[in-house]
This record gives sequence, C-alpha cells and structure tokens, in this order.
Amino acid sequence: AYLRAIEADNKALNAYVRITPDTALQAACAVDKKIAAGEAICLLEGIPMTLKDNISTRGMETACCSRILQGYVPIYDAFVWQELKARNAVLLGKANMDEFAMGSTCENSCYGGAKNPRNLTHVSGGSSGGAASAVGGNLAVYGLGSDTGGSIRQPASFCGLVGLKPTYGAVSRFGLVAFASSLDQIGPITQDAEDAAIVFDAISGKDPQDSTSCGSEEPAVPGLSKSLSGLRVGIAEEYFEGIRGDVKASLEQAISVFREMGAELVPVGLPSIRYALPVYYILACAEASSNLGRYDGIRYGYQAAGYSSIHDMICRTRSEGFGAEVKRRILLGTYVLSSGYYDAYYKKAQKLRGAVIQDFTEAFSRCDMILAPTVPMTAFESGSAGQRDAVETYLTDICTVPVNIAGIPAVSVPCGLDGEGLPIGMQLIGNHFRERTILNAARQYE
Ligand code: GLN
Repeated sequence: AYLRAIEADNKALNAYVRITPDTALQAACAVDKKIAAGEAICLLEGIPMTLKDNISTRGMETACCSRILQGYVPIYDAFVWQELKARNAVLLGKANMDEFAMGSTCENSCYGGAKNPRNLTHVSGGSSGGAASAVGGNLAVYGLGSDTGGSIRQPASFCGLVGLKPTYGAVSRFGLVAFASSLDQIGPITQDAEDAAIVFDAISGKDPQDSTSCGSEEPAVPGLSKSLSGLRVGIAEEYFEGIRGDVKASLEQAISVFREMGAELVPVGLPSIRYALPVYYILACAEASSNLGRYDGIRYGYQAAGYSSIHDMICRTRSEGFGAEVKRRILLGTYVLSSGYYDAYYKKAQKLRGAVIQDFTEAFSRCDMILAPTVPMTAFESGSAGQRDAVETYLTDICTVPVNIAGIPAVSVPCGLDGEGLPIGMQLIGNHFRERTILNAARQYE
C-alpha cells in the first residue's frame, strides 16, 4: 500500500530520491513468514519507513543529495540501520535532503526540494525535508533524519509532525555522513510522540564504532505516564525575541495548557543563547570544511572528466561536484580556521559554546524542561530562498541551534496553525539524557 502511495504521490512531493521496492517487499515478506509461523514480532517489525540520504545503507546508493556523491554505494550499514534492519524494518527508499544537510528548505538538494504535504506551494523544511514530506504525506510511517542545527525539528514543525533531536551521544553516528561531528545527531520524525519514543528506543545505544556514543540512560517508552503535576517548565524570554506574532500567541496558548495540566512555570534566563547563531555557523562551517576534505574525486562518487593533473582533477571535481551552499560553508569554515583568524572566530566561538552550556546547566538546576518555539515562523514558500540572502536564511535557525551547541535533547511538537493553515511547532527541551521527560510531556500535551 505504501509503495502504491509513493507511486501516486512522490512526483508531487519529491520526498523520495531513491525508491527501493525490492528491499521493502523482502523485509515485509520476512515478517509475513514469521507471523504465519506463529512467531512473535516486535513493535517496529514490518513497519514501512525511510532514511535520510546521508545515512549509509550497504549496497544502496547514499549520495547526501549531492552531485559529488553520485554513484557512491557504501560497503557498510549505519549503526541505526543495522538496528532497524535487525527488526525487519521495511525501508521504502532514501529521503530527500539539503546537500550534505546544509540548509533549511531542502532546496539545496541536487534533486530539487521536497514539498510540504500541508500545502504543496510551500517547502517541507530542511535539511531533513524529504523524511518530513514522506511522513506528513503518508508515504512512510516514520523517517530518520539528522539534526546538526535543527534539521529534524524544523521540518517536523513545518509539516505538523513530531521530530526528536536526541542527546549528543545517545544515538551512534557510525555511518552518518559527517557534516559537523560535534553537533550531528540522528533522530526520528513521526506522527506523534509515542512513535518517536518507540523509534528512539530502537536506535539509541552504545556503539563501539562511534567513540562519542554512550547510549541512553533509560528507555523512553515505559516512562510515558499520565501526570505532569509537579513538572517544572522553564520559560526563557530570550527564545521569544523576534518571533512572529501568531507563532508567539500559539506558544502562549501551549504554555497555558501545560499550566492547566499541573505543570509549574518557572522563568529561567539564557542570556548566552543570543550568541548561539554565530557560534553555530562558525563551528559548523569549521567542522564541515574539515569533514568535506575527503571528497577528492578518488575515494568517493563523482570524478570530473578531462583534467590535466591531479591538482586540476581535484579542483574540477570539487568545483563541479559541490553546490553553492556547500562551497560557501567550506570557504567560511576554512577562513575561521586559518591562522590569522583562528583566535578571533573559532576560538572565541568555542569559548561562547561553553557559556551557552553553562546557561542551560544553570537553567536545568531550576526546571525539568524548557518550552520554546521551534522556528520563528511557519513554512517558507517554495522558491523564496532566491529572494533571501544566505544570512537571512541562517537567522531562521535561531531557536533550534542552541540545543545542538549544548548537546541536549529537544522534541518539536505541533501546537497550532497560522492563518494559512500552516503548522506551528514548539520545542520541549530537556537536560542531557532526559528524552523520557520531554517525550512524556509531549505525549500528554497531544
Ligand atoms: N539549517 C541549519 C544549517 O543549514 C541546520 C542544518 C542541520 O541541522 N543539518 O546548518
């Protein structure tokens, strides 16, 4: 049924960039056989799903929606896919994304952007826009995305879905094509918070293949309980500066729902998050410029034709293979790491990262969870990126980047609609390894 739905709707949504009916049917048949034999199956078995195109799949092209990775077929599976495959997950195909996960619209994809299932003239968000478009358009039950500065939460918010960015280290990054290694995390995009908890429990875990992974401290699902009484919900006014009026009103409504459910509202201060955006763009670009050094035309995918020397080959491959946004970030990152500017930009950003972490640590000594907007606005119109300069688009990441800088978990949950019927999202932010707390709160709110 899902493959038929993809056949009917994927042309309009552009959610999938590669469809894998054989893999899907094989997994589905394996589950069928188990059921016929009277064997027990687990929750995720036989459930149709999708993976963002930066999550490695053995024997199946993984191109990060970039020209430079065209034809690259990984020889190993990402940890998260190993875990889901072992549960007979039905992979329907690879989902669209901004090239190398750099963007907020999915329109930096070499295959063109994915559309918003709520309104096809609008984008589904980015960078995990394909996964959000697929789940929102009922072309998958859940999707895995990656979130470096909001790429799971922002598309979830734009499409009226739930998106979880786990604690840094809760989910292994083994097999996730690196963008900014100190910020990247894989997480689920789902229809509701319970589904997000189920998928999170399946993909989290300590993995010796990723030295920064440590797993989760507690399963999210069994903790889902009814009561919110006594939950201290922090409200930081810094998060509400520059937010569009209707988004703010929707958030205020959500805050009063939490109050009615018995939560205690606590004002907290996060003064350093005002620096989070420049800190993010300096650190993310610096790390990206290093991580993307490996695409030299020899090791992976695309190689330019007709070159005169090895230097010329690498130059041409990278010039032709990378899109404009990726090049901009490599240049920015190389600049902030260069000897003359390292202290002024990179080192200063690292110090400010410490200040952001400190602010959250203090806030969480006084509350259990922080409630904030996910994005200052709703989904952009398709093609409108051309009317904004790059920095204007970067500014829209203002509410999502602080948690990546601090390494803490956050879930985006739908909390209303704007005048055009486009979804508005809120973030529930938890302390390290408190996925259970925020997912439970999200579920009670739903
Ligand atoms: N929009 C942000 C960026 O372009 C976040 C991307 C992400 O989380 N991968 O960097």
